[in-house]
Formats: sequence, structure tokens, C-alpha cells
Amino acid sequence: MKKFLTLFIVLFSIFLVACLDKNVENKITNKNSIQKNSSILTVHFIDVGQGDSTLILTPDNKTMLIDGGDNSQGEKIKNYLKKLNVNKIDVLVGTHPDADHIGGLDYIIDNFEISEFYMPRKSHTTKTFKDVLIAAKNKGLAIKEAKYGVVFNLGDYVKCEILNPVKKYGSDNNQWSAVIKAKYNNKSFLFTGDAEFKNEEDMIKSGSNLKSNILKLGHHGSSSSTSEKFLKIVNPDVAVVSCKYKNKYGHPHKEILNLLKKYNIPLYRTDEQGSLVFYCDGNEIWTDKKPGTYNYYGNK
Ligand SMILES: [Zn+2]
Repeated sequence: MKKFLTLFIVLFSIFLVACLDKNVENKITNKNSIQKNSSILTVHFIDVGQGDSTLILTPDNKTMLIDGGDNSQGEKIKNYLKKLNVNKIDVLVGTHPDADHIGGLDYIIDNFEISEFYMPRKSHTTKTFKDVLIAAKNKGLAIKEAKYGVVFNLGDYVKCEILNPVKKYGSDNNQWSAVIKAKYNNKSFLFTGDAEFKNEEDMIKSGSNLKSNILKLGHHGSSSSTSEKFLKIVNPDVAVVSCKYKNKYGHPHKEILNLLKKYNIPLYRTDEQGSLVFYCDGNEIWTDKKPGTYNYYGNK
């Protein structure tokens, strides 16, 4: 009898695993047809090596590009967008003036029609920063201030809120990072730029609803961001990190990998997997890739 019971449990487990696998497979199989379905939002974490560039395409074909990688990445991002038939960017965001975020933006501004451009009120002395200002000026593109309290609609379906900078952060570029929460029906995405612990604390204090299904880890998974408290409040289904394979900073850091492991949060990573695409119909989010590893690749 015991043998039969064991056999039954084994067979039932195999059946369950097969069902789960089929579920995932179905979503992958349906991906192309779903893409054409007009109710789908797609979020693309574009592989720009050590840096950030995230594209959001709404069900009604509105586009938001958050950051443009470093100076070498403008053309790659342009090609990525052109492949998706994106010729116009409705909202362009430079999260903060560091080169790995705004480096490619002058090229993007030169090559696309842009409706709105947001950056925090933090200037920088670099040529990279000046190039972005010049590109915007040449195009007659005004810079809107990215700060806590700004809300805007991206088309008819997606609502965006800027949650940081909550206040002025002096000379620290990272802390000025524009943090954006995009919501489509029951699902939400949190894009954190290079925001750090201090910002996470300020965002919690500000009373913003931080709960999000997908969290792009702050500062490429550096241990200066993603406190345990913040992670628990955001309570994401999955985390995403954008960084170069075996980068010199050791991103993502061990502490963050361990934290994600502790809470069983799957990690998707551009350093291992290249560009990542998430699909959302407002009630579900899916992707065609399996999560990356919790491997730590470099020394801090
Ligand atoms: Zn960065």
C-alpha cells in the first residue's frame, strides 16, 4: 500500500510539473500573437552594458524611454526602437545626470520626435550633460522637472507617478534619481534609476504607494540601494537588474543577491540574459525568459 502511495505521489508530482511547464510554454507560444493584441503593454529592459535604458510601449502605442545608456549606446537604442517601429517618443526621461544614464540621450533626441522630456533639477559639469542640454535646446525641447508629486498619463491606459526626488539632495547625482511608477490596471512597475537608501527612506516617509509587481533594482543592484525594508514594502514578484557582465563595480552586489534569495524573488539580469521584455495585459505579467541566477561575478 505504501509503495502505491509513493508511486501515486511521484506520478502526481510529475503531472503537476508538466502542467506548470505547459503553462509557461503556452505563454511563450502565444507571445507573438499577443504582441499584436492591442491590450498589451510591453516593458523592455534594453541591454546597454553598464547602464540603464528602459522602453515602455503602451496598448495605445504611446512610448516612454527612461534613460539612454552611456555615450556609446545611442545608436544601439535607436536600432532597437526602429525594429519595433517606434519613431516617436512621447515621454523621454533622464533619471539623473550620470553618463551611464544620459550618455545616449543626445543621440536619441537628435534622431526621434520627442513630445516631453523630464529630468530632475540637478546639473552636472560634464560634456555628456552639456551635450544633452544642447540637443534639447536645438530641438526646442523644454525640460520638465522630474520630482515627487508629478503625475502624467501615458496614453489612455497607463498612469505614471514620479516618486523621487522627494527633496533636494545636494551634490549626489544618484540621490536625485527620478523614480517612476507605471501602473496598468492591476499591475505596476517601479523604475528606480540609481536611487539609494536615503531616497527609499524618503519615499516610504512620503506615503507613496510603493507596492509594485516588477522592481528595477536601484543603482544596478549596488548595496547602496534596495534596503530590506524597501524591498519588503515594494514586495515585487520579480526584480530586474541592468548592468554589464562582470562589470568593474561588482554589480549586482552580494548583499542584494542574498536579499533576493532570502525572499525568493526571481532575478532577471541583462548581464546574463541580454535585453529583457515583459508583457502585461493589466492582470498578468509574463516573459519569454526564465529568471537569471543569483551568481556573484566580481569583487567590490
Ligand atoms: Zn547608473
